[in-house]
Amino acid sequence: MARIPKIAFEEHYTAPGFADYSKAFTQHISPELAAYLGQRLNDFDELRIQEMDAAGVEYVILSQTGPGVQAEPDLQQALRLAAQNNDFLAQRIAAHPTRLGGFAHLAMQDPAKAADELERTVKQLGFKGALVNGHTRGVYYDDRAYDVFWERLQALDVPLYLHPIDPFTVPHVYGGHPEIVGACWGWGVETASHALRLLFGGVFDRFPRVKVILGHMGEGLPFQRWRFDSRFAVYPHGVTLQRKPSEYIGSNIVITTSGVCSGATVAGAVAEMGAEAVLFSIDYPYESTALAAEFIESAPISEEARRLVCYDNAKRLFKL
Ligand code: MN
Repeated sequence: MARIPKIAFEEHYTAPGFADYSKAFTQHISPELAAYLGQRLNDFDELRIQEMDAAGVEYVILSQTGPGVQAEPDLQQALRLAAQNNDFLAQRIAAHPTRLGGFAHLAMQDPAKAADELERTVKQLGFKGALVNGHTRGVYYDDRAYDVFWERLQALDVPLYLHPIDPFTVPHVYGGHPEIVGACWGWGVETASHALRLLFGGVFDRFPRVKVILGHMGEGLPFQRWRFDSRFAVYPHGVTLQRKPSEYIGSNIVITTSGVCSGATVAGAVAEMGAEAVLFSIDYPYESTALAAEFIESAPISEEARRLVCYDNAKRLFKL
Protein backbone atom coordinates (compact mmCIF):
# COMPACT_ATOMS: atom_id res chain seq x y z
CA MET A 1 0.00 0.00 0.00
CA ALA A 2 1.23 3.49 -0.81
CA ARG A 3 2.11 5.28 2.39
CA ILE A 4 1.35 8.90 3.12
CA PRO A 5 4.71 10.70 3.40
CA LYS A 6 5.58 11.65 6.95
CA ILE A 7 8.09 13.62 8.98
CA ALA A 8 8.61 12.69 12.64
CA PHE A 9 10.65 14.47 15.27
CA GLU A 10 10.33 12.99 18.74
CA GLU A 11 12.65 10.22 17.66
CA HIS A 12 15.39 9.27 20.07
CA TYR A 13 18.93 7.95 20.10
CA THR A 14 21.53 7.69 22.79
CA ALA A 15 25.13 8.84 22.48
CA PRO A 16 28.00 6.84 23.99
CA GLY A 17 28.17 7.31 27.75
CA PHE A 18 24.61 8.59 28.14
CA ALA A 19 22.75 5.36 28.99
CA ASP A 20 23.34 5.78 32.74
CA TYR A 21 21.30 9.00 32.81
CA SER A 22 18.29 7.00 31.61
CA LYS A 23 18.47 4.44 34.43
CA ALA A 24 15.85 6.42 36.34
CA PHE A 25 13.27 4.82 34.06
CA THR A 26 15.09 1.95 32.32
CA GLN A 27 15.57 0.22 35.71
CA HIS A 28 11.81 -0.39 35.73
CA ILE A 29 11.56 -2.23 32.40
CA SER A 30 12.22 -5.88 31.55
CA PRO A 31 15.73 -6.90 30.37
CA GLU A 32 14.21 -8.00 27.06
CA LEU A 33 12.62 -4.61 26.42
CA ALA A 34 15.77 -2.82 27.60
CA ALA A 35 17.79 -4.82 25.04
CA TYR A 36 15.27 -4.05 22.28
CA LEU A 37 15.37 -0.32 23.08
CA GLY A 38 19.14 -0.21 23.51
CA GLN A 39 19.69 -1.76 20.10
CA ARG A 40 17.47 0.85 18.45
CA LEU A 41 18.69 3.86 20.44
CA ASN A 42 22.26 3.06 19.36
CA ASP A 43 21.40 2.47 15.70
CA PHE A 44 21.38 5.20 13.07
CA ASP A 45 21.81 3.21 9.87
CA GLU A 46 19.80 -0.01 9.74
CA LEU A 47 16.79 -0.79 11.94
CA ARG A 48 15.81 2.84 12.19
CA ILE A 49 15.85 3.49 8.47
CA GLN A 50 14.20 0.15 7.62
CA GLU A 51 11.30 1.00 9.93
CA MET A 52 11.05 4.50 8.46
CA ASP A 53 10.95 3.08 4.92
CA ALA A 54 8.24 0.55 5.80
CA ALA A 55 6.03 3.24 7.35
CA GLY A 56 6.51 6.03 4.81
CA VAL A 57 8.53 8.21 7.19
CA GLU A 58 10.74 10.26 4.90
CA TYR A 59 12.64 12.29 7.46
CA VAL A 60 13.18 12.29 11.21
CA ILE A 61 14.79 14.77 13.59
CA LEU A 62 16.73 12.92 16.27
CA SER A 63 17.15 13.77 19.94
CA GLN A 64 19.09 12.36 22.88
CA THR A 65 16.78 10.22 25.00
CA GLY A 66 15.98 11.61 28.43
CA PRO A 67 17.10 12.96 30.72
CA GLY A 68 20.67 13.36 29.37
CA VAL A 69 22.62 16.26 30.82
CA GLN A 70 19.44 17.77 32.25
CA ALA A 71 20.27 15.38 35.13
CA GLU A 72 24.01 16.13 35.32
CA PRO A 73 24.97 17.83 38.61
CA ASP A 74 28.38 19.10 37.41
CA LEU A 75 28.08 22.17 35.19
CA GLN A 76 31.38 21.75 33.33
CA GLN A 77 30.65 18.07 32.73
CA ALA A 78 27.15 18.95 31.43
CA LEU A 79 28.56 21.56 29.02
CA ARG A 80 31.29 19.23 27.76
CA LEU A 81 29.02 16.20 27.32
CA ALA A 82 26.29 18.19 25.57
CA ALA A 83 28.76 19.53 22.99
CA GLN A 84 30.28 16.05 22.50
CA ASN A 85 26.80 14.62 22.05
CA ASN A 86 25.93 17.21 19.41
CA ASP A 87 29.15 16.56 17.49
CA PHE A 88 28.48 12.81 17.67
CA LEU A 89 24.96 13.28 16.33
CA ALA A 90 26.16 15.50 13.50
CA GLN A 91 28.55 12.74 12.39
CA ARG A 92 25.79 10.12 12.39
CA ILE A 93 23.45 12.41 10.45
CA ALA A 94 26.15 13.06 7.86
CA ALA A 95 25.83 9.44 6.68
CA HIS A 96 22.10 9.96 5.88
CA PRO A 97 21.59 13.68 5.36
CA THR A 98 18.33 13.29 3.45
CA ARG A 99 16.76 11.05 6.10
CA LEU A 100 18.10 12.26 9.46
CA GLY A 101 18.22 15.67 11.11
CA GLY A 102 19.19 16.74 14.62
CA PHE A 103 17.95 18.56 17.67
CA ALA A 104 20.61 20.06 19.93
CA HIS A 105 21.20 18.57 23.36
CA LEU A 106 21.75 21.50 25.70
CA ALA A 107 23.17 22.03 29.18
CA MET A 108 20.40 24.34 30.38
CA GLN A 109 22.25 24.69 33.69
CA ASP A 110 23.86 27.77 32.09
CA PRO A 111 21.30 29.69 29.99
CA ALA A 112 23.83 31.84 28.09
CA LYS A 113 26.10 28.90 27.26
CA ALA A 114 23.06 26.82 26.26
CA ALA A 115 22.12 29.64 23.87
CA ASP A 116 25.67 29.67 22.46
CA GLU A 117 25.63 25.91 21.93
CA LEU A 118 22.22 26.12 20.28
CA GLU A 119 23.57 28.74 17.90
CA ARG A 120 26.66 26.64 17.15
CA THR A 121 24.60 23.54 16.36
CA VAL A 122 22.10 25.43 14.20
CA LYS A 123 24.63 27.49 12.25
CA GLN A 124 27.54 25.05 12.03
CA LEU A 125 25.90 21.61 12.28
CA GLY A 126 22.59 22.37 10.55
CA PHE A 127 20.44 21.33 13.51
CA LYS A 128 16.73 22.13 13.42
CA GLY A 129 16.26 23.40 16.98
CA ALA A 130 16.64 21.79 20.39
CA LEU A 131 14.94 19.14 22.45
CA VAL A 132 15.25 19.69 26.18
CA ASN A 133 14.25 17.00 28.65
CA GLY A 134 12.21 19.17 31.00
CA HIS A 135 13.54 21.00 34.04
CA THR A 136 17.22 21.01 34.89
CA ARG A 137 17.49 19.67 38.43
CA GLY A 138 14.36 21.52 39.47
CA VAL A 139 14.92 24.76 37.57
CA TYR A 140 12.17 25.77 35.10
CA TYR A 141 12.71 27.97 32.07
CA ASP A 142 10.18 30.68 32.89
CA ASP A 143 12.91 31.97 35.24
CA ARG A 144 14.07 35.36 33.92
CA ALA A 145 17.60 33.98 33.79
CA TYR A 146 16.43 32.09 30.68
CA ASP A 147 15.37 35.20 28.77
CA VAL A 148 18.82 35.19 27.18
CA PHE A 149 18.07 31.69 25.89
CA TRP A 150 14.57 32.47 24.59
CA GLU A 151 15.86 35.59 22.87
CA ARG A 152 18.47 33.55 20.99
CA LEU A 153 15.99 30.79 20.14
CA GLN A 154 13.68 33.42 18.66
CA ALA A 155 16.52 35.11 16.74
CA LEU A 156 17.63 31.76 15.29
CA ASP A 157 13.99 31.06 14.34
CA VAL A 158 14.07 27.43 15.50
CA PRO A 159 11.68 25.65 17.90
CA LEU A 160 12.29 24.07 21.29
CA TYR A 161 10.80 20.64 21.93
CA LEU A 162 9.97 20.42 25.64
CA HIS A 163 10.20 16.71 26.39
CA PRO A 164 9.06 14.94 29.58
CA ILE A 165 11.18 14.11 32.59
CA ASP A 166 10.46 12.79 36.10
CA PRO A 167 9.04 15.40 38.49
CA PHE A 168 11.77 16.99 40.63
CA THR A 169 10.08 15.71 43.78
CA VAL A 170 7.37 13.06 43.77
CA PRO A 171 4.03 14.74 44.55
CA HIS A 172 2.19 13.41 47.61
CA VAL A 173 -0.76 12.29 45.49
CA TYR A 174 1.44 9.65 43.77
CA GLY A 175 2.40 8.06 47.12
CA GLY A 176 2.28 4.27 46.92
CA HIS A 177 1.64 4.41 43.16
CA PRO A 178 4.97 4.30 41.30
CA GLU A 179 3.08 3.23 38.17
CA ILE A 180 1.63 6.74 37.74
CA VAL A 181 4.76 8.78 38.56
CA GLY A 182 6.52 8.33 35.22
CA ALA A 183 5.64 7.89 31.56
CA CYS A 184 2.11 6.59 32.23
CA TRP A 185 0.89 9.88 33.76
CA GLY A 186 3.35 11.93 35.82
CA TRP A 187 5.58 12.94 32.92
CA GLY A 188 2.60 14.48 31.16
CA VAL A 189 1.52 16.50 34.20
CA GLU A 190 5.09 17.62 34.82
CA THR A 191 5.64 18.74 31.23
CA ALA A 192 2.23 20.37 30.79
CA SER A 193 2.83 22.27 34.04
CA HIS A 194 6.25 23.43 32.81
CA ALA A 195 4.63 24.67 29.60
CA LEU A 196 2.01 26.55 31.63
CA ARG A 197 4.81 28.17 33.65
CA LEU A 198 6.22 29.47 30.34
CA LEU A 199 2.78 30.67 29.21
CA PHE A 200 1.69 32.37 32.44
CA GLY A 201 5.26 33.48 33.12
CA GLY A 202 5.02 35.69 30.03
CA VAL A 203 7.74 34.00 27.95
CA PHE A 204 5.53 34.22 24.83
CA ASP A 205 4.66 37.85 25.53
CA ARG A 206 8.34 38.75 25.82
CA PHE A 207 9.33 36.55 22.86
CA PRO A 208 6.23 36.32 20.67
CA ARG A 209 7.85 34.31 17.87
CA VAL A 210 9.07 31.52 20.16
CA LYS A 211 7.66 28.08 19.34
CA VAL A 212 7.57 25.35 21.96
CA ILE A 213 6.60 21.84 20.89
CA LEU A 214 4.88 19.46 23.29
CA GLY A 215 4.64 15.74 22.57
CA HIS A 216 2.06 13.19 23.66
CA MET A 217 -0.86 15.11 22.14
CA GLY A 218 0.24 18.29 23.86
CA GLU A 219 0.47 16.54 27.24
CA GLY A 220 -3.29 17.10 27.53
CA LEU A 221 -3.22 20.90 27.30
CA PRO A 222 -5.33 21.26 24.11
CA PHE A 223 -8.28 19.73 25.92
CA GLN A 224 -8.24 22.29 28.75
CA ARG A 225 -7.96 25.51 26.72
CA TRP A 226 -11.50 26.66 27.46
CA ARG A 227 -11.03 26.11 31.18
CA PHE A 228 -7.74 28.04 31.26
CA ASP A 229 -9.57 31.10 29.93
CA SER A 230 -12.56 30.63 32.21
CA ARG A 231 -10.66 30.10 35.47
CA PHE A 232 -7.71 32.44 34.81
CA ALA A 233 -10.26 35.25 34.40
CA VAL A 234 -11.50 34.50 37.93
CA TYR A 235 -8.17 33.64 39.59
CA PRO A 236 -5.45 35.69 37.88
CA HIS A 237 -3.41 36.17 41.10
CA GLY A 238 -2.08 39.42 39.69
CA VAL A 239 -0.77 37.81 36.51
CA THR A 240 -1.49 39.70 33.29
CA LEU A 241 -1.12 38.34 29.77
CA GLN A 242 -1.39 40.07 26.41
CA ARG A 243 -3.74 37.37 25.09
CA LYS A 244 -6.14 34.80 26.51
CA PRO A 245 -4.32 31.66 27.73
CA SER A 246 -6.00 29.56 25.05
CA GLU A 247 -4.55 31.73 22.30
CA TYR A 248 -0.98 30.68 23.09
CA ILE A 249 -1.90 26.98 22.88
CA GLY A 250 -1.94 26.26 19.17
CA SER A 251 0.25 29.23 18.21
CA ASN A 252 3.36 29.55 20.41
CA ILE A 253 2.73 26.02 21.68
CA VAL A 254 2.23 23.36 19.02
CA ILE A 255 1.86 19.66 19.65
CA THR A 256 2.81 16.28 18.30
CA THR A 257 0.89 13.01 18.27
CA SER A 258 3.85 11.07 19.71
CA GLY A 259 2.80 8.24 21.96
CA VAL A 260 -0.96 8.83 21.68
CA CYS A 261 -2.13 6.75 18.71
CA SER A 262 -5.83 7.53 19.10
CA GLY A 263 -7.89 8.72 16.14
CA ALA A 264 -10.55 10.27 18.37
CA THR A 265 -7.92 12.25 20.29
CA VAL A 266 -6.10 13.64 17.26
CA ALA A 267 -9.46 14.60 15.74
CA GLY A 268 -10.21 16.47 18.98
CA ALA A 269 -6.86 18.24 18.94
CA VAL A 270 -7.37 19.32 15.32
CA ALA A 271 -10.90 20.51 16.12
CA GLU A 272 -9.65 22.46 19.15
CA MET A 273 -6.61 24.22 17.65
CA GLY A 274 -6.70 23.71 13.90
CA ALA A 275 -4.67 21.25 11.85
CA GLU A 276 -1.68 23.59 11.58
CA ALA A 277 -0.95 23.18 15.31
CA VAL A 278 -0.83 19.36 15.27
CA LEU A 279 2.18 17.45 13.93
CA PHE A 280 2.87 13.76 13.55
CA SER A 281 5.63 12.11 15.55
CA ILE A 282 6.31 8.63 16.88
CA ASP A 283 8.54 8.58 20.02
CA TYR A 284 10.82 5.93 18.53
CA PRO A 285 11.87 3.45 19.80
CA TYR A 286 9.51 3.58 22.79
CA GLU A 287 6.47 3.43 20.51
CA SER A 288 5.91 1.44 17.33
CA THR A 289 6.61 3.20 14.04
CA ALA A 290 4.22 0.85 12.20
CA LEU A 291 1.39 1.45 14.66
CA ALA A 292 1.87 5.23 14.64
CA ALA A 293 1.79 5.25 10.83
CA GLU A 294 -1.38 3.15 10.69
CA PHE A 295 -3.02 5.38 13.29
CA ILE A 296 -2.41 8.66 11.49
CA GLU A 297 -3.27 7.21 8.07
CA SER A 298 -6.69 6.07 9.33
CA ALA A 299 -7.48 8.86 11.83
CA PRO A 300 -10.91 10.51 11.32
CA ILE A 301 -9.60 13.87 10.03
CA SER A 302 -9.85 15.42 6.57
CA GLU A 303 -7.27 14.54 3.92
CA GLU A 304 -6.17 18.17 3.94
CA ALA A 305 -5.62 18.02 7.72
CA ARG A 306 -3.81 14.68 7.43
CA ARG A 307 -1.37 16.12 4.91
CA LEU A 308 -0.64 19.06 7.22
CA VAL A 309 -0.24 16.84 10.32
CA CYS A 310 1.91 14.23 8.59
CA TYR A 311 4.16 16.45 6.52
CA ASP A 312 3.46 20.04 5.56
CA ASN A 313 3.43 21.52 9.08
CA ALA A 314 6.85 20.04 9.88
CA LYS A 315 8.22 21.08 6.51
CA ARG A 316 7.19 24.66 7.25
CA LEU A 317 8.24 24.68 10.93
CA PHE A 318 11.73 23.33 10.23
CA LYS A 319 12.16 25.01 6.83
CA LEU A 320 12.93 21.68 5.15
MN1 MN B 1 10.08 10.74 23.90
